[in-house]
Amino acid sequence: MTLSVLFFSTLDVRTLFRLMFVADFVVCLLLLGYRETGTKQRLIRRFVFARVLHGVACMLISLRGEIADLASVYGANIAIFFGFALEVATIVGAHVRRRTVTGLLFAIAALGSVVFVLAATTPGLYVGYAALVVSALFGVAFAVLAGDEQGSRLQRIIAGFYLLVAFSFLLRAYAGFGAGMGVLDAPPVQSFGLLMMFGYCVGGGVGFLLLLKEDVDRRLLVAATIDSLTGILNRRAFFEAARERLARAAERGEPASLLLVDIDHFKRVNDTFGHPAGDEVLASVTERLRRALRAHDLFGRVGGEEFAVLLPEAEAEAIVVAERMRLSVRRLTTPAMQHLDCSVSIGCASVAAGERAAIETLFRRGDAGLYAAKRAGRNRVVAAGVVEGVDGGSWKPASGFIDGPAPTSAAEGGDRPAG
Ligand code: GH3
Ligand code: MG
Ligand code: MG
Repeated sequence: MTLSVLFFSTLDVRTLFRLMFVADFVVCLLLLGYRETGTKQRLIRRFVFARVLHGVACMLISLRGEIADLASVYGANIAIFFGFALEVATIVGAHVRRRTVTGLLFAIAALGSVVFVLAATTPGLYVGYAALVVSALFGVAFAVLAGDEQGSRLQRIIAGFYLLVAFSFLLRAYAGFGAGMGVLDAPPVQSFGLLMMFGYCVGGGVGFLLLLKEDVDRRLLVAATIDSLTGILNRRAFFEAARERLARAAERGEPASLLLVDIDHFKRVNDTFGHPAGDEVLASVTERLRRALRAHDLFGRVGGEEFAVLLPEAEAEAIVVAERMRLSVRRLTTPAMQHLDCSVSIGCASVAAGERAAIETLFRRGDAGLYAAKRAGRNRVVAAGVVEGVDGGSWKPASGFIDGPAPTSAAEGGDRPAG
């Protein structure tokens, strides 16, 4: 107890305020040096402006008694209210898009300023009102950030900072109103609050930078792994994920199957309706195929009009899924077209329970199945046989014709031009 009191009561308040000024200055410098070419520039400018307000205010407060109260009391506190309102609105607004929150924060700053100018008449009331306003701003920010269910761990940690500041400033407000504590007095409650604020000045700045980076990282990851036309995994990401899944299945002694899906005569769609219409068909086919799958099935676009699916199933069950996919693309609807006759050919390759196979091996065999399906008239599923090991597989060519309708079948598309 004595140690903690000693820790918080031997600090010089003016020094603490100047340290905050320095922390704000350093944070501003780093932020201005952060090259961000995208939409983040505006956020950074706002944050820097907020910190300039706060830093200048801290310097003015540290000069209390040496300069006019107009600047050191009123100007400084109003700058702090609006600086923090802008800062937390920038952070919260970038992650939780709610206009009302920004409005509320600025309303607190504005109302706080009016009350402060009208009612704060003694050093105790200066501290009381000012701390209350800051506590309210951080309390609101905490509630919004912590309530964001999709928030990252970093976001939660920053919300924790907010809570700590809100709490320590509530204590300061109590000491101001109740015991008439002035801003240069240094009882433990004062030093505690200002130390928390100093920690926030540094940590909040770093946190803001990390939040920006986290967001950029997320966008880059999406750009690197997601196919922009269809919204599913691209070839590279599919291979990477499939390799991992296969290894996991092998470790657990579970089977796995790969389906290679290719749209039949897709070139004719482009030739007949044009490339943009072809793109829409691709997107619609993807959506239909996706709906025929379950959430845990791995689905990617591995070529222009080719897709791959990795299923945690043995061949027999995988063929059921493949068949569901084949039937799912009939009478396709796109934004521009209705009831387009579309069909896909599917090659299926499996690795049996307790066996191991590289994704490349499975791919080669799935491709052989797909080729067999095309040769046999398209619009069908062909299983290429169980792969029995990385190298020594025993592929049975075109072993399982599944529900291959007569290619002339009008209803099913068959060997006809799509459309
Ligand atoms: P098959 O039944 O033998 O698979 O015939 P196909 O016409 O589907 O196959 P082919 O390989 O001859 O042609 C594939 C076509 O897919 C050619 C290419 O222009 C088209 N394609 C590939 N990627 C895209 C894309 O992103 N958008 C559009 N619109 N077309 C694409
Ligand atoms: Mg094709
Ligand atoms: Mg193809």
